[in-house]
Amino acid sequence: MTGNFVTVACPDCENEQVVFEKAATAVACEVCGHALARPTGGKADIEGEVTETVQAR
Ligand SMILES: [Zn+2]
Repeated sequence: MTGNFVTVACPDCENEQVVFEKAATAVACEVCGHALARPTGGKADIEGEVTETVQAR
């Protein structure tokens, strides 16, 4: 099973971070700790603005 990576802009500090679209664990902003992705069992629930999608190869 493959998935894309997305670049998410943190709503709190504008840090941009690459997050796996189907993250199995919660992903927090590396700068301020804001939750950026929550696992749902499939595609993660992304919080914040997705600024770029990086296709998996
Ligand atoms: Zn942040």
